[in-house]
Amino acid sequence: MLHLLLTVDVDADGASRPGTTRESNWDSVAAIPEFRSALGACEEHFGHEVPVTWFVRADDQVARSLGHATALLERVLSFSGAVRATDEMGWHPHLYRETRLGGWAPEPNEASRVEQMTRTHEQMRSMRADCTSGRIGEAAGSLQALLAFAALGYRVDSSAIPGRTRDDADRCFDWSITPNEPYVPSRLDARRPAQVGEVSLAIVEVPMTTVPFQASYDDQPLLRYVNLAYHPHVFRRGVSDWMSHAADDPGDKVLTLVTHPDEWRSRSSPSGLYAYTPQAGIKNLTWLVDELHRRELAFRFRLCRDIPALMPIA
Ligand SMILES: [Zn+2]
Repeated sequence: MLHLLLTVDVDADGASRPGTTRESNWDSVAAIPEFRSALGACEEHFGHEVPVTWFVRADDQVARSLGHATALLERVLSFSGAVRATDEMGWHPHLYRETRLGGWAPEPNEASRVEQMTRTHEQMRSMRADCTSGRIGEAAGSLQALLAFAALGYRVDSSAIPGRTRDDADRCFDWSITPNEPYVPSRLDARRPAQVGEVSLAIVEVPMTTVPFQASYDDQPLLRYVNLAYHPHVFRRGVSDWMSHAADDPGDKVLTLVTHPDEWRSRSSPSGLYAYTPQAGIKNLTWLVDELHRRELAFRFRLCRDIPALMPIA
């Protein structure tokens, strides 16, 4: 059985643009109703609803620029019909600290990151946002962050981007040894499953599935998360190959889709990777489902929080 996860990150403006500025504008949140109506077109085609796991920013930058750490959560929930009772609300903290010039940069100190998580979680509890799935921003998960999530009652982390490593001006992470499937992380190294005799964490890692995709500016395919906002020809080529491998293995599998509502908005200039139109998102999602039917691969749309109980996880 293939478990399909549609996860939607609600971020600051420009979060998925190259060379992130970590800006404190949140206008892209207004794209949520348009995203929901595009999703509605897919649901009409499928004849059933598609549950969504929303990962919404709540952290120090949100608190500083919007007045309260939970302000974005409240804004998302204020769009009538955008978040359904059958959806899941997850937490998406970007663990930054304010720079002297008033900008934002990744917080390098693990104790400070955990302190920000614990403090923000308290504020989320006060608005009764009882999330149990989390995704640290910019793939900056770590052993300490996963321990903090587990201590706060979280059951699923989805910060890992298997096979990818970056250490440049924009991002710093190393998920090179991480499997492309859910696992129970080791207490020694959260990037891999606990081996026999090792202590494991009380949380399940459900990675953002990575697949080789080739943008028009790439010399060769690059492992990327599976974003419904890519150009349909790019999306199909990468996901077709993934499906062919999935068909060879009859066991449970997870395909985690990641997207941002504002990537489904029409923009004048698409990139070599992103189409930036609602039509592309609709095309990709309907193609994915039709193609799974055509290949007779059994699948269901799920929520992140469902995964630990749905399949055997090592
Ligand atoms: Zn983010």
